[in-house]
Amino acid sequence: MNILVTGGAGYIGTHTIVALISNGHSVVVIDNLINSSRESLRRVEEITDTTIPFYEADLRDYDTLGGIFNEHPIDAVIHFAGLKAVGESTENPARYYRFNVGSTLNLLKIMNEYNVKKLVFSSSATVYGSAPVPYVESHPAGRDITSPYGKTKYMIEEILSDVAMSDSSIEFTSLRYFNPIGAHESGRIGENPTGTPNNLMPYITQVATKQRESLRIWGDDYDTVDGTGVRDYIHVSDLASGHLAALTHSKPGYHVYNLGSGKGTSVLELLRAFEVSTGQKIPYEIAPRRPGDLPEFYADVHLANSELNWQTTKTVEDACRDSWRWQSENPNGYEQ
Ligand code: NAD
Ligand code: UDP
Repeated sequence: MNILVTGGAGYIGTHTIVALISNGHSVVVIDNLINSSRESLRRVEEITDTTIPFYEADLRDYDTLGGIFNEHPIDAVIHFAGLKAVGESTENPARYYRFNVGSTLNLLKIMNEYNVKKLVFSSSATVYGSAPVPYVESHPAGRDITSPYGKTKYMIEEILSDVAMSDSSIEFTSLRYFNPIGAHESGRIGENPTGTPNNLMPYITQVATKQRESLRIWGDDYDTVDGTGVRDYIHVSDLASGHLAALTHSKPGYHVYNLGSGKGTSVLELLRAFEVSTGQKIPYEIAPRRPGDLPEFYADVHLANSELNWQTTKTVEDACRDSWRWQSENPNGYEQ
């Protein structure tokens, strides 16, 4: 297939492109580089030994989208592009709706114009709000979502569902990611947050490189295995293979799948796994709970296992080793 990858220069996009090309697909990428760099795609080209057609453009620019669809026969779209900082979305909600929802509407319009029926969308476990664990796709989403970011994901899911209902040949899939960590085993591509990382794994790796002094663990008084927050960490390469599975699975309509490992891991458990698998000691201190954090969530992955014939193959330890390889070999990310 010839696949348009929006946001393909980002963390999950780059890893997915490697999986797509390794499985014989061709890609075209659009990314405005608002949260990424050209270098990430250059490294994907190096890993895959290909040249990737790249458009440095904003998805909200309809004319550029038209030019891309005109120039390339697109069979399907994987839609990663979007803003993803939860805190920032609370400070500037309108920007998040413009970027995330607005971009998606543009994309749907051009897909309709060029008769492209297949789309895979990056959704998030955040659309469940505070649901019972494990999170199952059949649980009603959309209630209790704590951030505008999460609401944009839910709104986009609703839009995709409505559009899919209007045309029986459409195949739209939302993949609800849990917590992606890890990096490509080459150490050449990985997560590259700007400024102070909000997420746990990049914070840990930056403490390991001594760019940050110590990890603050946000709360050790939750009702969890050891009091610290529990999440479902999934290796980004497993997440990438989930996109491949969703893309090659042919089923008209609108479908939703969780992509997680199906297992909960606490902050202290992840920390220990990192220390054991990399030999790096991570100093930490216990701090008050982070506002808005849920104590515990992890995925039920039976649906993706059975319908997409997809399984994770990597452990949390693999992810720790790969994250560390990436961070230690590229302490400044893609900046040399
Ligand atoms: P990322 O920021 O690394 O990648 C997103 C890419 O989209 C970036 O390269 C950015 O420059 C680009 N982009 C943003 N707005 C754009 C626009 N209007 N036009 C063109 N390009 C634009 O993020 P990621 O971690 O790779 O996440 C990819 C997707 O998965 C996002 O939609 C994110 O919300 C979603 N997601 C991520 C996580 C996570 O923990 N990383 C979890 C759940 C869902
Ligand atoms: N966390 C932490 N210190 C940090 C970053 C995260 O203790 O510097 C905890 C956080 O409270 C949560 C878990 O690590 O329990 C995962 O946080 P992350 O932000 O990576 O994912 P999310 O909470 O958005 O699922």
